[in-house]
Amino acid sequence: VSAAGRLAVALGAARRILVFTGAGISTASGIPDYRGPSGVWKTRRPVVYDEFLHDPEARERYWRQKAEDWEAWGRHAEPNAVHRAIVALEAAGRIEMVVTQNVDGLHRAAGTDPSRLVEIHGTNALVECQRCGRRDEASRHYEAILGGGQAPVCDCGGLLKPATISFGQALREEDLARAVGAARRCDLALALGSTLTVTPAADIPLEAHRRGAPYVIVNRGATAHDGLPGVTRIDGDVVEILPPAVRAVLEGDGWPYSGEGAPH
Ligand SMILES: [Zn+2]
Repeated sequence: VSAAGRLAVALGAARRILVFTGAGISTASGIPDYRGPSGVWKTRRPVVYDEFLHDPEARERYWRQKAEDWEAWGRHAEPNAVHRAIVALEAAGRIEMVVTQNVDGLHRAAGTDPSRLVEIHGTNALVECQRCGRRDEASRHYEAILGGGQAPVCDCGGLLKPATISFGQALREEDLARAVGAARRCDLALALGSTLTVTPAADIPLEAHRRGAPYVIVNRGATAHDGLPGVTRIDGDVVEILPPAVRAVLEGDGWPYSGEGAPH
């Protein structure tokens, strides 16, 4: 049985799937995996949250890095077949929640309903005022920085920052609560393209596993949850495995794409 066939069997009749995604699902959209061997983290010193707030030089450096990343790959990145397969599962009424570690905004761009999406590490697609909390599209701020502008400030005078969780910054309690709530309600946990090493995010599918929900992990290479009792482990590239599996499960049941194979 192929990897996609094994996954299709595991998806089976699940109606409340918790999907947990990591960097491995976005590499097919041209987004580099920060933890890979040539990851950006190997060559750049990250700006921690406290520095962003209190050190103007670090704040300018942070914004420049974000704007350069946006120019290099974020600006033109499009959702891929994995993002669209997850939307197809949602359209078929099978998704409880999509929880992503990715900050690229591609689930939202693909059409995942915001009420069924938790961007647990935030998103680079928005900026957020660190004083009043107001959120706004990020692209015009990146453009301004690339044009020589300085770190932007909100109308209220507060500092604007891309709406990601920085080093030294806690996860949003509301997001964590929505994710954990879904882990307690789901009838299947499906982890895609994540090494499951970053906590507390990776504890979310683990919570579903602890209360006895089936747990399926699709990833190329080892994960921190390999070897847990009862886990279905499928090794390989998720972009080659999930779309045909979802197609097999939904065929005759609302699969929205025509033609053979995975959606492009
Ligand atoms: Zn403000």
